[in-house]
Amino acid sequence: MSLKDDFPILSREVNGHPLVYLDNAATTQKPQIVIDAMTQYYSNSNANVHRAVHTLAGEATEGYEDCRRWIKNWFNAQRAVLTSGTTEAINLVAHGWGRANLQSGDVIVLTEMEHHSDIVPWQILAEERGIEIRYVPVLDDFTLDMEAYSESLHKAKLVCVVHTSNVLGVRNSVDEMITLAHQAGAKILIDAAQAVPHERIDFEHLNADFMAFSAHKMCGPTGIGALLVKNDAFEQMQPFMGGGDMIETVSTSGSTYQTNEHKFEAGTPRIAEAIGWSAAFEWMSKIDLPAHHERLLEIAKWTAEQLREIGCTVYGRHQSGDAAVVSFLHPTIHSEDFARFLDAKGFAVRTGHHCAQPLLNRLGITGTIRASFYLYNSQQEAEDLIKAVRYIVERFA
Ligand code: PLP
Repeated sequence: MSLKDDFPILSREVNGHPLVYLDNAATTQKPQIVIDAMTQYYSNSNANVHRAVHTLAGEATEGYEDCRRWIKNWFNAQRAVLTSGTTEAINLVAHGWGRANLQSGDVIVLTEMEHHSDIVPWQILAEERGIEIRYVPVLDDFTLDMEAYSESLHKAKLVCVVHTSNVLGVRNSVDEMITLAHQAGAKILIDAAQAVPHERIDFEHLNADFMAFSAHKMCGPTGIGALLVKNDAFEQMQPFMGGGDMIETVSTSGSTYQTNEHKFEAGTPRIAEAIGWSAAFEWMSKIDLPAHHERLLEIAKWTAEQLREIGCTVYGRHQSGDAAVVSFLHPTIHSEDFARFLDAKGFAVRTGHHCAQPLLNRLGITGTIRASFYLYNSQQEAEDLIKAVRYIVERFA
C-alpha cells in the first residue's frame, strides 16, 4: 500500500489518462479517513453543538471541540478560534483586533508577496480608519527586502506577512521578522496557509501574535480553518460577528459575551468540517512531514531545472525550507493554453494570478502556470509532467 492509496480520487482518470494532481497549493486531496469521518457524523451523530443535553448533541459537541484540541496540540497554542479558513481568520483580526486597537495615523506593514486575503481586509480597514499601509518590496532573488522591512517598522502597530508564498514557494524569514516587529512595538500576524501543510509549526515558540491557516490545504475539508492568538492579543479583541453561541447573556438592554474562543464563533459552526479536520490531523500524525518536505523540495528543484532547460522562466528559488511550488511561463505558448494541453493529458495545474496580483505586478507578469506538489506526489509524476511539457513545446512552440 502506498500513501497515495489512502486518497480515492487519485485512482481516477482524467481525459483518458491517470490523474496527476499538481494543484495542491490551491487545495489538497482528502484521504478516505476524512471522508468517512464526515459521512459518519452525518449518518450517526448529526445535531447542533453546545445547546442540548441529548446524546447526539453531546457527540456533535465533543466532535467539534475535539478539533480544537487537535489544533492546540498540533501547534502548541493556547487559543484557537475556528473560522471558515485563512481568509476569515485574517478578517477576524482586521475586525476583531484592528477595529479595537488601530486608529487614524497608525501604520500596518504588509509585503508585496501577500495573498489578496492578507491585503484587502487591511485596505478596507485603512480606508475606514485613515491608516497608512506600507509594503515591503520583493527583491530580484524572490526574497523580501529585509532592510526595507526594518525601516518600514517605524511607528508600525501591526505587521502581516505570508510565511510561505503560494506563488513562489519561498519561505520568508519569519523568525527574524517576528523579532523585529516586536522590538518595534508592533504585533505580527503570520499567514501560514501554505506553511502548515509542509511543516509543523510550534506557535508558542514562533512567538507571533496571530497565525491563520486553512484545513483544506492539509488534507482536511474546505470551509474550515483557524486563527491562533496569543493570550494578550486575545484579550484585546472584540467580537466581529454577533449571534447565538458567542454570548453569556442577552437582554433587551444589552448582551455579555463568552470569554473563551466561542466569543468569536457566532452561530452554528462547521461541525462536520471540524470532525473531518480532526481525522486529517490523525492521518497527518502518522506521516513523517520533514522527510516528505525534503523529498518534495527535491522533486520541485528537479522540475524547475528541467523547465529552465526547455526554455521556460521559473519564478522561485527552491532552497531549503521552501515549499514544493513551481511557477513557470513558456516564452511563446500562452499559460492558459499550456494548462489546457496538460489537462488533456491528465495533469491538474493552476494558471492565473493566484490571488497575488501585487506580486505578479512586481515580477512584470500577469500570471504563471503553477505545479504544486504534495505528500502523495512522486518523482515519476514530475518526470511524466516534464515529458508532457516537452511534447507540448515540440508541437506548439
Ligand atoms: N494565504 C495564502 C498564502 C494562500 O495560499 C491562500 C489560499 O490559496 C489563502 C491565504 C486563502 O486561503 P482560504 O481561501 O482557504 O481562506
